[in-house]
Amino acid sequence: MKSDLNRNNVTYYQLEKIRQDFPILKKLIHGKPLCYLDNAATTQKPQAVIDALVEYYSSMNANIHRAVHHLSEASTKAFEDSRKKVKNFINAASEKEIIFTRGTTESINLVANTFGRNKLKEGDEIIISGMEHHSNIVPWQFLRDEKNIKLKVIPLNDKGEIIFEEFEKMITGKTKLVSIVYVSNSLGTINPVERIIETAHRNNIPVLVDAAQAIQHLKIDVQKLDCDFLAFSGHKIYGPTGIGILYGKQNILESLPPFLGGGDMISKVTFEETTYNELPYKFEAGTSNIADAIGLGVALDYVSGIGIDAIAAHEAELLKYATERLMEIPGLKIIGQAENKSSVISFVFDNIHPHDVGTFLDFEGVAIRTGHHCTQPVMLRYNIPATSRASFALYNSREEIDILFNGLKKIIEVFS
Ligand code: PLP
Repeated sequence: MKSDLNRNNVTYYQLEKIRQDFPILKKLIHGKPLCYLDNAATTQKPQAVIDALVEYYSSMNANIHRAVHHLSEASTKAFEDSRKKVKNFINAASEKEIIFTRGTTESINLVANTFGRNKLKEGDEIIISGMEHHSNIVPWQFLRDEKNIKLKVIPLNDKGEIIFEEFEKMITGKTKLVSIVYVSNSLGTINPVERIIETAHRNNIPVLVDAAQAIQHLKIDVQKLDCDFLAFSGHKIYGPTGIGILYGKQNILESLPPFLGGGDMISKVTFEETTYNELPYKFEAGTSNIADAIGLGVALDYVSGIGIDAIAAHEAELLKYATERLMEIPGLKIIGQAENKSSVISFVFDNIHPHDVGTFLDFEGVAIRTGHHCTQPVMLRYNIPATSRASFALYNSREEIDILFNGLKKIIEVFS
């Protein structure tokens, strides 16, 4: 696969070398080379991340923040070094603003259970969009039912973009939070989060950004964005599963009660009362997912080593090429044609169910995702039961898009 790109004479994108870093890409599936195009669900892991996990358990494993022995100190240092890497990666102002969670889902639930429960009262309003993942819908519904608040949904146009004017009209004196996805996992739309944040802040409304599908594709600078909260998952950016991040502005996090109670999040406990630890530990009750937090730091080093701009340029080229090729296929309709799109193409055929598409492609070694992608309201909006979704990562090539294209052409022959 020889799709090396020469970008601005600055970055030479060495695809072949990058592919060597991911051992799973050598695998054969049903006798065919794996063509992994399900990256929006989870990304594959470079050897450096796999090695970091083995190394942690082989030579460093001990609980953190608690003991004075050598292993505990080494483990604590590696864990806290990883927090620093996350802080630098998203340019947070302080490590106190970086909370380790299990992933985007837990990060959003944390905000709903602390900010939501503490700051909102009956009649208040939260704005989300019509393209949210279920994890940015259901926690707010829990809160709505508990506190009798109102959930408002920004509608989408036919291309899969939010209708900005509708968003502006929705804002009232009772709006207490905007919680919005940066990049849609089912449509690929990149939302104008800077403009959304600016508009919300003009009305003194904080904003949570779901960056689960953005962190691996776009340069994110939380100070520049000025978002109040930002959530992402390690496994979508070449890191381990079970680890994620909640970024929150320090002054807001300071003002919130803890999420879970237990060890490490306390300062002093008596049977009468408990005082809480400082940030970020106040929000990290119990033994953290130490190994995977360290693995996430290594994944971020890996991405930084290649450069997010080089990755974005490569993926933009793949998206353009894939869109052109897929549009050549008779009867195929792309769902989500926003002007500003990231590495996701969702598509449907009139007379072939996405699950048949996915099963057929699997026999060609091609892994795509089929279904509602945890965005059932998006399926309702476009009046479809499901889509087939190909999603790209830094290691994908034009040749793999050709394999997808040829597989889809074969399906059409079989089904016609
Ligand atoms: N938000 C978006 C946009 C997603 O794509 C996903 C996962 O696919 C999530 C949230 C939830 O992420 P996780 O399951 O890692 O918590």
